[in-house]
Amino acid sequence: MMRTHTCGELRSEQLGEKVKLAGWVRFSRDHGGVLFLDLADAYGTTQVVFDPEALKDRTTIEGLESLFKTFGRESVISVHGTVRNRVPGTEDSRNPTGEVEVLIEGAELLNSSRPLPFEVAEQKGSLLPGEDLRLRYRYLDLRRTSMSNNLRFRHRVISAARCCLDDAGFVEVETPMLTRSTPEGARDFIVPSRTSPGSFYALPQSPQLYKQMLMVGGLDKYYQIARCFRDEDSRADRQPEFTQLDIEMSFVDDRDIQAIIEKVLARVWKDVFGKDLSIPFPRITYHDAMHKYGTDAPDIRYGLELNDVTDIVQRSNYSIFQRILKKGGKVVGMNVRAEYTTTPSSDGSLVGRSEVDRLIEWAKTQGMGGLTWMRMVDGELTSNIVKYFPSDVTADLIKEFDAKEGDLLLFLAGSEIAALKAGGDLRRKLARDLNLLDGKGHQFVWLVECPLFQRDSVTGQLEMFHHPFVRPVDGCLIEGEDLTNAGGLSYDLVLDGSEIGSGSMRCHDPEVQRQLFRCLGMTNEEMEAEFGFLLEALSYGAPPHGGIALGIDRLVSLMLGCETIREVIAFPKNKKFQGLMDRSPAPVEDSKLNELQLLCLAEDESEE
Ligand code: ASP
Repeated sequence: MMRTHTCGELRSEQLGEKVKLAGWVRFSRDHGGVLFLDLADAYGTTQVVFDPEALKDRTTIEGLESLFKTFGRESVISVHGTVRNRVPGTEDSRNPTGEVEVLIEGAELLNSSRPLPFEVAEQKGSLLPGEDLRLRYRYLDLRRTSMSNNLRFRHRVISAARCCLDDAGFVEVETPMLTRSTPEGARDFIVPSRTSPGSFYALPQSPQLYKQMLMVGGLDKYYQIARCFRDEDSRADRQPEFTQLDIEMSFVDDRDIQAIIEKVLARVWKDVFGKDLSIPFPRITYHDAMHKYGTDAPDIRYGLELNDVTDIVQRSNYSIFQRILKKGGKVVGMNVRAEYTTTPSSDGSLVGRSEVDRLIEWAKTQGMGGLTWMRMVDGELTSNIVKYFPSDVTADLIKEFDAKEGDLLLFLAGSEIAALKAGGDLRRKLARDLNLLDGKGHQFVWLVECPLFQRDSVTGQLEMFHHPFVRPVDGCLIEGEDLTNAGGLSYDLVLDGSEIGSGSMRCHDPEVQRQLFRCLGMTNEEMEAEFGFLLEALSYGAPPHGGIALGIDRLVSLMLGCETIREVIAFPKNKKFQGLMDRSPAPVEDSKLNELQLLCLAEDESEE
C-alpha cells in the first residue's frame, strides 16, 4: 500500500496511529536539527517532522537525516510514522490537518524534481508568475491549490448538470469531431483527409446539425458536454477550442427549453454553492436590452439605464445635438444617481467635475464626439450648456430621469447604434468605477425576441443574427417582408452581463429552411452542395425541435469570479492561441504533408 491516508485526512482522531503518506515536498525547514516539511497532495497538506530525539535507533536517525536533506522542493516522497499533536501554540487553524503532524520513522524518495521555474506553494500575498510561464509548465501550475480547486469546481458544475439532465430523461450522445463544416459565424479548423486526397474535414464549430439529426432520429432529448472549435481572430478571453453544454429537444417550445436550463442551473447552484437560485430568470427583449442597456448582453444588477431623450432635446438650441439630430441621430442619456456614489470627490460632489472631464475624454476614445452633462443643484439642472435648453425642456428631462438633488445626467449623441453602444459601455465603466457591483451576487437573464437577421456593420450584407437554422417567429418568412424586421425564435442566456448561451427553435420544415438559405444568397445548387443532407433529413418527417448550448468555460469562470476563462481550463492556449507546453501548433514533416498530398507555402516560423 503506498499510503494509508491522503495528505488532507489526518485529524486528532488518528492520534497515535501508524500512518503512511505520499506526496510532494512543498516546504521544508530546519528548526535546530528538527526537520519539518509540508507534504502535499491533491487533498491537502500535512506537516511531517523528523525529530532525532524521538527516534531511538542511531542508524535510522542518521539514514533519515541524510535522506531528508536530499528532499528538494516538489520531490515526491513517501513517509511512514506516527500521528501526534503539534506543539501547543503551533497549530495551524487554516489547515484542516493543522492540529496534528506525523513523526516520521521512515521515508523514501519516489522521484526528485529539477529546480522549479516558479513557486508552486501558494502563500498569502505572493505574486503569480507570468501567464505564459504558467502555461509552459501547466502541470506545475495545476499543482497550485487554487488551480486544482478551479478544476474540481468545474467538475462539480458539470456533474450536477449531468445528474439533472439524467433525471430529466436526457441521453448523452457523442457527435463526430471530423465533420463537414457547420456555419456558426467563425472560420473552421480544417483537417486534411489522407484517404480522400484533396478533401477536408472541419472540426465542429458546434454539434448543431448532428443534434438536429438526432431529433430527426427520434432521440427526443439529447445533451452532450461538447468540444467546439472556432478559428476566430484571437480576442480577449476566447479560446479556439471550448466546451459547451449542448442540448436539443423535440416536441417542445422555447419556454420548455428555457425551463430545463433553469432547472439545470438551479441544481448546479444548489450542489456547488448550497444556494437556491431564483427561477424563472427575468426576460428582456432584444429591443429593450439595446435601448435600456446598450447591449444584447445586459447586466441588470445595477441601474444606470439608458433613456432615449431625442424627442425632448430636439426642442433645445444646443447646436451639437441639433447637428446630430439633423443627420437622423439620437441622444441617449442616463441618470447617475447621487446615491450611487459613496465617496465624494475633491470638489464635494459625488461624481465631481474632474471625473466628468475624464468621462468626456473617455467618450472621445470611444468614437463619440464627447459627452454632455447636467447636474441637479437646488432643484434645477445646471451645467455650462444648460442655457441652450429652455425651461420646459429641462423640466421634461428632470421628469424623464426622475432627477433628484445631486443627480448627474449624462448624454451621448450620435447614430442610434453608436449612441446606444457607447451608452452601454459608459454604463459598464461607471458600474466599475463606482463599485456598483459590490455584493451584488449573480444574475441570469434571458434575452428574447431576437431578430432573425442583422446587417454586417462593415459590408452591410445580410447575415443571420444567430445561425441559419433558427425558425422564424411566424413559422416561415412572409413574402415581401423587410428581413431586418423579421423575428427569430431564438434566445440568449446572459449571466452578469456576459452571454453564456444561445439557442433557438429550428426550421423543421425543409421549405422554410430553404427560404432562409435563399435569403442568405444561396442558390439551390449551393444549398444542395452544402446542406443537402440536412434538407433531405428534414424531408423525412422531422419533429418540431429546438435547443440551446451553454458555454461551460465562461459559466464556470463567472461563477468563480476568475479574470479569464483560461483559469478554468486545464490546458488552454495562450492569447495567441498557442499551446505553450506542447508547443502547438507546429510544423509537420514534409513526409506527412506528402502523404496528405499537401504543399506548405508558409515559412517555418518555429525557430523564432
Ligand atoms: N449551436 C449553437 C451554438 O453553438 C447553439 C444552439 O443553437 O443550440 O451557439
